[in-house]
Amino acid sequence: MEISIKDILSATGGEILSGNENLIISGISIDSRKIKEGYLFIPIIGQRFDGHMFIEDAFSLGAVAALTSRDLDIKISEDKTIIKVDDTLKSLQKIAQFLLKKTDIPVVAVTGSTGKTTTKEFISSVLSEKYKILKNEGNFNNHIGLPLTILKLKKEHDIAVLEMGMSNRGEIDVLSKLTKPKIGIITNIGISHIENLGSRKAIFKAKMEIANYMDKNSILIVNGDDDFLGTLKKSEFDFKIFSVGFKKTNDIYVEKIINSNTNEVEFLVCIENKSFNFKIKVPGIHNVYNALFAIAVGVVFKIPIDDIIKGLKKYKGSKMRLNIFKTSKGITVINDCYNASPDSMKAALEILKNIEGKRKIAVLGDMFEMGEYSESAHSEVGKMVVEKNIDLLITVGKESRMIAKTAIEKGLKSERVFTAEKNDTAINLIKDIIKQDDVILVKGSRGMKMEEIVHFLQERS
Ligand code: ATP
Ligand code: MG
Repeated sequence: MEISIKDILSATGGEILSGNENLIISGISIDSRKIKEGYLFIPIIGQRFDGHMFIEDAFSLGAVAALTSRDLDIKISEDKTIIKVDDTLKSLQKIAQFLLKKTDIPVVAVTGSTGKTTTKEFISSVLSEKYKILKNEGNFNNHIGLPLTILKLKKEHDIAVLEMGMSNRGEIDVLSKLTKPKIGIITNIGISHIENLGSRKAIFKAKMEIANYMDKNSILIVNGDDDFLGTLKKSEFDFKIFSVGFKKTNDIYVEKIINSNTNEVEFLVCIENKSFNFKIKVPGIHNVYNALFAIAVGVVFKIPIDDIIKGLKKYKGSKMRLNIFKTSKGITVINDCYNASPDSMKAALEILKNIEGKRKIAVLGDMFEMGEYSESAHSEVGKMVVEKNIDLLITVGKESRMIAKTAIEKGLKSERVFTAEKNDTAINLIKDIIKQDDVILVKGSRGMKMEEIVHFLQERS
């Protein structure tokens, strides 16, 4: 899309110190190493680096313009454009906001405690049957990743499907102000980031910030089976509320699970008093919830049901999120080590329980950002391990010792429970334990890097 320095000035309210207002830039980057000829460089002040240090590098790599919030004492040739702004990060967000407004395409924004990325991918897959979609790559969902995604807007895009993450109150408000969603989605209210927010009620309120800029033409789609989201009263809001789930009180609801196995789930959904059969190519009931949002969005955008069915089937899962594979030695591995929260632990243990195999082994690592809830959250997972009849448990890390402790208290024999400090130790334990026809789940928070264990299983067993 064509962006001029004039656009940048009007978006940011900045002041041009040198250069040319009529210049058209060829792209924007916050990473000086990714600058190409004709780009605008936006230096972001991070925790470790101040992007302003790289302004000269950016110019030498072909940038024609740069924002700055500092007084620069470097030598810059006069043909380069410098724009002084108060805050470079806010400017990045304002430029993204400007671009979205200029194209005026509808935004579908997805937030919630778990399932955001999966839901975003399902929605994009369905909408792609009829429209050209802009979406965040991977998990680019925060105050920097989201505006960077929007910078990729092209003229041909029809709809933007944007994941919005948060770890604190007020963050979704900032992102919603930027994106002004026509459709907002809240997947569920769990306890991720409860350390910062204090309670589930506070998390619920923070997620509801997605509706702060909604009007009567906007729709908020929620998981109506969630104990918080299910209490929203349609009459109390001036935007529309639409609910999905298994309960018959939802606007779109699952009537029946027809078949559920390690590769797919087939289910019957009631939409406006008619039943339709859908299939998803990823396992787990939690993914049926994620898919329901895509069905609802498809209906809102008037995509024919046959195309919604087609679009849903095209989503084949994301990296490290519940990837199931069999090793050459006949061990089934559930790789879910992208991240972990009690809610997603539950979903993964449910899959481990239902999957075919001789012994069910759970290798569970620490869940981070639980703050004072850490002990009870890990303990809760220990309880689930017993409820789901898991045969062997290996915990990795300090916090997850509580998973082991509770599992033993709830009846799992102590000789079936192992605690490891680190992935290496866990790998040594697994080497001794694992046998053909076992099923093994590997899951923990991102920082636990439990893919190391998955790699071992891939290579050596
Ligand atoms: P993040 O906060 O890291 O961006 P996210 O909300 O985008 O996470 P996903 O990446 O889609 O969530 O899924 C993360 C993990 O949560 C997956 O590995 C999956 O096992 C689990 N999960 C996905 N959807 C749900 C759901 N609706 N309910 C419970 N667990 C889920
Ligand atoms: Mg995500």
